[in-house]
Amino acid sequence: MAQRIAEGGIRHHGVLQAIATVPRHAFIDAGLSAQAYEDSALPIGNEQTISKPSIVAKMIEALLKTKPKLGKVLEIGTGCGYQAAVLSLLADDVYSVERIRNLHDSARAKLRPYRISNLRLIYGDGIRGLPQAAPFDGIILAAAGLGIPDPLLDQLAIGGRLIAPVSRSETEQQLLLIERVSSQRYQRTVLDEVFFVPLQSGTI
Ligand code: SAH
Repeated sequence: MAQRIAEGGIRHHGVLQAIATVPRHAFIDAGLSAQAYEDSALPIGNEQTISKPSIVAKMIEALLKTKPKLGKVLEIGTGCGYQAAVLSLLADDVYSVERIRNLHDSARAKLRPYRISNLRLIYGDGIRGLPQAAPFDGIILAAAGLGIPDPLLDQLAIGGRLIAPVSRSETEQQLLLIERVSSQRYQRTVLDEVFFVPLQSGTI
């Protein structure tokens, strides 16, 4: 799978290595494991999906740019925990927030055997960010909102990068990269057309 992702244009060695290391089948239903190493999104319950591995790789590569590793990273949308596990290999500290209790609990159970000491899972509404652990060198959203929530922009370190899908209409979403240039200035780049589950407020 890592080789296919490399052929798709991902160059960052650390990202390819992390994708090759994390067993994606361990994060999905046994009934779907035959498809675990295909480049597709798959259902994980509660109407949510595990993202396509090529998108996971693309987003993390955009966060890293040419750096081998990031400092502190915040992920919004733990889902099944797959992307959080990949991120834990590429950052000093990862905080991952999930709003659906059921998915948060099951991600915790799936990740437990790996004993990842630099990954913390938080049950809560990621739209508020995680002020107690801010600022973050990287913020990654696995769900698409109508814009980027202000608390997340505030919690980005100067020089930090945020990557997020943003909805433009019912059917159109863009993957945005935001760099915080100074305390008041943010630079925005559109990277791709994408399709993610919606960013929703509150916890369930
Ligand atoms: N990174 C995940 C992708 C999961 S899909 C993986 O590797 O599997 C996106 C997830 O974002 C869903 O689980 C959804 O419940 C969650 N989500 C949506 N809005 C959220 C919010 N406001 N706060 C936290 N999680 C949210």
